[in-house]
Amino acid sequence: MVNDIFGSMVFSDAVMKQRLPKETYNALHQTVLDGRRLDIGIAHVVANAMKDWAIEKGATHFTHWFQPMTGITAEKHDSFISPTGDGRVIMEFSGKELIQGESDASSFPSGGLRATFEASGYTAWDPTSYAFVRNDTLFIPTAFCSYGGQALDKKTPLLRSMEALNKQALRILRLFGNDDVTSVRTTVGAEQEYFLISQEMFEKRPDLVFTGRTLFGARPPKGQQLDDHYASSIKPTVLAFMKEVDEELWKLGVPAKTEHNEAAPSQHELAPIFSTTNIATDHNQLIMDIMQKVARKHGMVCLLHEKPFDFVNGSGKHNNWSMQTNTGVNLFEPGETPHENAQFLLFLCAVIQAVDDYQDMLRVCVASAGNDRRLGAKVAPPAVISMFLGDELAEILASIEQGRPYDAREKSTLKVGVHVLPRFPRDTTDRNRTSPFAFTGNKFEFRMPGSSASISGPNFVINTAVAESLRQFADRLEQAEDFNSELHQLIIDCIRRHKRILFSGNGYSEEWLEEAERRGLLNLKTTPDCLPYYIAPKNIKLFTEHKVFTESEIHSRYEIKMEGYCKVIRIEAHTMSQMVHRDILPAVSAYAKKLCDAAAAKEAVLGIGAENAFEKEQAAEISALTTTLYRRCGYLDEALKEMEKMESPIDQANFCRDSIVIIMDKLRETVDRLESLTDRADWPYPDYGTILFSVK
Ligand code: ADP
Ligand code: MG
Repeated sequence: MVNDIFGSMVFSDAVMKQRLPKETYNALHQTVLDGRRLDIGIAHVVANAMKDWAIEKGATHFTHWFQPMTGITAEKHDSFISPTGDGRVIMEFSGKELIQGESDASSFPSGGLRATFEASGYTAWDPTSYAFVRNDTLFIPTAFCSYGGQALDKKTPLLRSMEALNKQALRILRLFGNDDVTSVRTTVGAEQEYFLISQEMFEKRPDLVFTGRTLFGARPPKGQQLDDHYASSIKPTVLAFMKEVDEELWKLGVPAKTEHNEAAPSQHELAPIFSTTNIATDHNQLIMDIMQKVARKHGMVCLLHEKPFDFVNGSGKHNNWSMQTNTGVNLFEPGETPHENAQFLLFLCAVIQAVDDYQDMLRVCVASAGNDRRLGAKVAPPAVISMFLGDELAEILASIEQGRPYDAREKSTLKVGVHVLPRFPRDTTDRNRTSPFAFTGNKFEFRMPGSSASISGPNFVINTAVAESLRQFADRLEQAEDFNSELHQLIIDCIRRHKRILFSGNGYSEEWLEEAERRGLLNLKTTPDCLPYYIAPKNIKLFTEHKVFTESEIHSRYEIKMEGYCKVIRIEAHTMSQMVHRDILPAVSAYAKKLCDAAAAKEAVLGIGAENAFEKEQAAEISALTTTLYRRCGYLDEALKEMEKMESPIDQANFCRDSIVIIMDKLRETVDRLESLTDRADWPYPDYGTILFSVK
């Protein structure tokens, strides 16, 4: 059954092999390998075969599917029909329509890149990611650029970074004599966390509807204290949802593999089997989209926000990353021979150096208003980047650095390129769940990316930063007179210089934050804190030298991120203000009146000495809190007006961080206290307990 449906809606390699003339198939294959543009003649043959196949699958339309800077995917549907002049139509799809499409770029964020005379952009087929049919439409994965060639999307820099890493990794592999390898790609498996709540509850909360997270909500009596949700038995409604999600994904060739309950009530996770990074990125977009649509069919809403509820875990997207040769070797698999181990250690050092040198960019690429609420909170990775290698590997590196024996029983010291590394069992390497960047046996798990964001950003940063380490290593080793001793020294130098980034302890603890500060590691708490690093000269140099971005592309992305942050905070603040003025103040005022009426009635009937402490004291407290709330909401409204007067996005963003967010948090405190005092029947929204345990 699974075999029958898996990839059934994908114009895959197997389908192409079957449906394309041999020369066309080979030519296409070669173009993909070379990363060249497709010849229009070949494109025409491919387009025709693709169209016939898609029509058999029920498609009437096609769309270039792309990933603009909004973080979600965009599509514009065109039908295949073409009039024949006699009132009839035929179904047509040309090579030109396959490889290039026009799209009005003016409605997508471009951060000032797209001058007004250049309102349109174009989409170009990424033939390394297969086309597929969904909702009677042929989807063609594409990159999105301006006519000037500037990237307006998330796919283009990712593809460029993969190329940069490929180039440098091949230089290193040549030095180790791996002449059979002709390309290196990065592999990614992104574990996706999400919440499922009942649609009925969702619709009763303007904050969820407008912002994707609850802006208010008193602490529920039960959250995740009992740890009774993680990997617990799955409720029938959720199970039915997961089954349908899996089937939809399988049809599109997305290898959804594990589905389980996560730590917080109503929180779940889906993990696919890893694939090449650009495909994994496309697939993750499909996963998010399909989960949201299928949830609705089951009377639920899938929340992808990083922190939909306070007091319980937020959601992330663990980005498992590795490098693989076209001969099938995982470069982060420790080897069996001294030679393989030396190569493994060198690639490992490349990542250590990359994470240390570009901690700022790793922080930037996961920054958003939503993730600000999650990172650094009690149960999420801290905002400080550090790296966990596992005790044994860390010990091996330390003994190499210090030139001492790894094992006390042995006399000789480990010499890179001469000795086989001591075996370290795989499962001991993944014990530390608090590390933002952990080596997990044969891959790295970057745990900071937020659950709603595209994984393109984290991956183009990792790819480019590692490409830069490898470039420096290759420059040095290619000049070496004695390769093995230079290699040994390089590894020692690298550990010495970058060991501050290695940390095995509890990343959530206060002591670590102090220790990290002593080590000089960055602790960039909010989006406005870290965004200026995007345009730091060293980072501009990194991306331009590896041809991942031009300088103006970096500036545009910096601006888009800054504006995006301000927009989110502004929407949240306006939603809060509206909820307070229109729902909460009227509700608490009415409830206070009820209490006063009850107190007066008691006194009228029972006399002045009536026992009415509850009514009076509660009414007094509610009344005082109501005044505080009214004032604080006034401050928020004033602050929003003040923000509108500011012209530069950085000023606005800093103002959001220093004023708006602070007032919002204060406002929430008051509302949450009021919620806990008010009659359940009078509170205008379902409470946390009801929402978090709403799915049956
Ligand atoms: P967990 O982290 O929950 O213990 P696994 O380690 O088995 O689970 O895998 C987590 C994710 O890492 C999966 O999506 C898996 O496909 C992916 N993964 C495994 N090996 C690699 C690899 N070499 N490159 C990239 N991702 C990988
Ligand atoms: Mg994992």
